[in-house]
Amino acid sequence: MRYVGPIYRPPSEADSLLIQATVGCPHNKCTFCMVYKKGPPYSVRPTAEIKTDLETAHRLQGRRIKTLFFPAGNTIAMPTAQLAEVCRYAHHLFPQLERITVYGSSRYIYRKGPEELRELGEAGLSRIHVGLETGDDHILKAIKKGTTASEQIQAGLWVKEAGIELSEYVILGIGGNDRSEAHALETAKVLNAIAPDFVRLRTFVPKVNTLLLHQIRERRFKVLSPHEVLLEARLLLDNLNCSTRLYSDHYTNYLNLEGRMPDDKERLLSLIDEGLAWDEGRFRAFFVGTQ
Ligand code: SF4
Repeated sequence: MRYVGPIYRPPSEADSLLIQATVGCPHNKCTFCMVYKKGPPYSVRPTAEIKTDLETAHRLQGRRIKTLFFPAGNTIAMPTAQLAEVCRYAHHLFPQLERITVYGSSRYIYRKGPEELRELGEAGLSRIHVGLETGDDHILKAIKKGTTASEQIQAGLWVKEAGIELSEYVILGIGGNDRSEAHALETAKVLNAIAPDFVRLRTFVPKVNTLLLHQIRERRFKVLSPHEVLLEARLLLDNLNCSTRLYSDHYTNYLNLEGRMPDDKERLLSLIDEGLAWDEGRFRAFFVGTQ
C-alpha cells in the first residue's frame, strides 16, 4: 500500500483496511490542528491508483477485510462521482465489507448537498466522522473552522437522511475560559438538532506548529484546568437530550464518559461529580502534543 503524508484514523477504525484516496486537507486552517500544517498540500489520488491499492489489499488480505477507512483530513471533499466509484469497487472486491468510513468537515458535506450525499450512501459509504468541535459560532470563527452552527446542523441532517452513519467530534476546552459555558450550551443545542449516531469527546491539547499554541503563549487563550473541563462536560451532557451514543475514546480525556444518551445521563453526571471531588493532581499533566 502507498501512503503520502500523515495518516490518521479514528480509534474505532483500528482494525480497518486503510486505503488513501486523498492527501492532506483542503481546508488546513483550523488553529488547533497541526496535522497537515507542514504539508503535503491537498490532492485527490487518481482513481486507478486507489483501485490498484484496493486490489493489492484484496490479494494480501482477501476475505479478512471487514471494514475500510479512506484516510486523510477531508476525503468527503473529493469529487462525488469518484468517491462513489471507489466505494462501489471496494464493495465489489470485498463483498463481506461491513463499513466504509471517511473524515469530513461540515463545510464540505454541506457543499455536496442532499442528492450527492444520497448517491454516496447508495454507493456504500456508510459512516462519516465529522469534526464538529463546537456548536458556538464565536468559537467556530476563532478557531477558523470555516463553518457555522447552522451549516453544521444542515450537513448533519443531510448525512442522516442519506442513510450514512454520523459521528460528531466535540473538543472540550476549545473555547478556553472565556467561552466555556457558551461552548457547552451551544454544542448541546447543535447536537440535539442533529441527533447524530455517535458523539465523541476529545479534550483540547495544544499542538506544536499551531496558531492556538501561539495564542496560549501570548496569553490570549487560557487552557482549562481538569476541573474546568469536567464542569464544561457536565453542562454539555446535562443539556444533551437527543438519542445518541457517547464515546470518550481518546487519550486526551480526563474521564471515560461512555454511554447511551439520554438514558445514561444521570450515571455520567455522577461520574463527573466523582471526578470533580478528586484533587486536580490526579489527572494527567498539561502537555503540548507533537502528533
Ligand atoms: S481539523 Fe480537520 S478540517 Fe481542520 S485543518 Fe485539521 S484536518 Fe483540516
